[in-house]
Amino acid sequence: MASKRKYQVYEHRFEEKVVLVTGGASGIGRATAEKMARQGASVVVMDLRLDAAEAVADEIVKGGGKAKAFAGDVTNPKAMEAAVAFCEKEFGALHMAFNNAGIGGPAGLLADIDIDGFRQVIEVNLNAVFYGMHAEIPAILRAGGGAIVNTSSIYGIVGTATSVGYTAAKHGVTGLTKAAALGYADKGIRINSVHPGCIDTPILQGLDPEARNQLIAEHPQGRFGTDEEVADAVAFLLSDRASFVSGSQFVVDGGYTAH
Ligand code: NAP
Repeated sequence: MASKRKYQVYEHRFEEKVVLVTGGASGIGRATAEKMARQGASVVVMDLRLDAAEAVADEIVKGGGKAKAFAGDVTNPKAMEAAVAFCEKEFGALHMAFNNAGIGGPAGLLADIDIDGFRQVIEVNLNAVFYGMHAEIPAILRAGGGAIVNTSSIYGIVGTATSVGYTAAKHGVTGLTKAAALGYADKGIRINSVHPGCIDTPILQGLDPEARNQLIAEHPQGRFGTDEEVADAVAFLLSDRASFVSGSQFVVDGGYTAH
């Protein structure tokens, strides 16, 4: 006999909530900005290029959502402060942040890596998450509490020999997130990291076919993930449905780190 149980499709609701999404013009950031806007959030799409951020914000507004674009470099602490001030000026508050902007960084074994390339990936993928939270947390406290998600990676849990700086930065994001989560757990801010496996976004466009196939084979599900699949996890972590989730490392990796 068929089960009479009805499954409900849950939508998180973010009405009256304001979210800042860095790296919001592309890939995982874009999918998350669009998803949260569809679920009622007012979204500030931050990215390096204003035209790219505006294209996403305009698309959201055309679809009936609320969004504004903000251009800035996440490695500039003043730009992060300005982005937070922009959220408060345009939408009245900041409740949630997705610190997600990132780069691939140099490839190669440790001794072959260019030192400036290493410094850059640490600056963008790790230090900027600190600058982001440093600016966001006081505003979220002013708003009465909220949630933050930081983008780490499977390489924030396990290593890879040929992305040394990326692995170091993403492990740093894991630790930074835990420390911040502990510091603000009793102050009304939940802070978690999301750990995508390989996701089909522009960041992976430079891969040659052989490397791509090798990476796909390393994912037990036998495919790359989609930006939508990561956005679903981020929206959950930012929502009240995750009300007892803080300091977690949430993997979205087709089983990669289960090995
Ligand atoms: P993406 O499509 O390249 O998006 C990244 C966005 O961040 C781009 O719009 C980029 O702008 C922007 N950005 C880069 N540096 C910035 C800076 N200094 N200030 C402001 N914005 C900046 O890549 P994605 O795959 O969505 O990556 C998003 C995050 O997920 C990154 O942290 C990445 O490390 C992480 N991640 C990705 C994967 C994956 O397989 N795709 C897996 C695990 C983790 P420009 O395009 O103008 O440079």
